[in-house]
Amino acid sequence: MENIEEENVPNAKTCTKCGKAILDKESTFCAYCGVPFDSKPRSSGFTGPAGILAIIAAVFSVVVGVMGINYYQQYVAYYTQYSMDTSGSFGFLLFASFAFVAAAVGFAGGMLALGKKRLMFSVTCMLVMLASGIFTFVCLWHFGYGFIETLLLPGISILALSIVGAVFAVKSKADFSSEELS
Ligand SMILES: [Zn+2]
Repeated sequence: MENIEEENVPNAKTCTKCGKAILDKESTFCAYCGVPFDSKPRSSGFTGPAGILAIIAAVFSVVVGVMGINYYQQYVAYYTQYSMDTSGSFGFLLFASFAFVAAAVGFAGGMLALGKKRLMFSVTCMLVMLASGIFTFVCLWHFGYGFIETLLLPGISILALSIVGAVFAVKSKADFSSEELS
């Protein structure tokens, strides 16, 4: 029988009515006595990691924001020195602003995931960070700033962490009742 190894699991759940081991984890009622099990879904344990990843991504988003402001000031100072038009520096301010907003949104999303609240909203927050990370690179390319090495690590970290965080959160969807999802 394929059930033998499951019977050897020390913490295998047992039916509260007849006390026999619950072998089919997907079943909603006891195979021996027919009593329905508590319909509360099992926790996948992914919401915690999802929340933590989102919060780390939010920290990187703050880093990108601070760097963007920094580069903006440097570029403005540089162009002003040569009496040149400083409007080209605007891109730094643009992605820096987005990064700060995304950091706040992402942090909120991370806290929601940690608190196992409003899961899909939390996922949306993580996707906002993802969008902001992509936007940073789009700005660098669009405004012709070229490859800025120091933005690479936080930028890619935001992309990776927000994607993995969102995937983890979606994977833990079963932990939430329908009213907690939206
Ligand atoms: Zn039973």
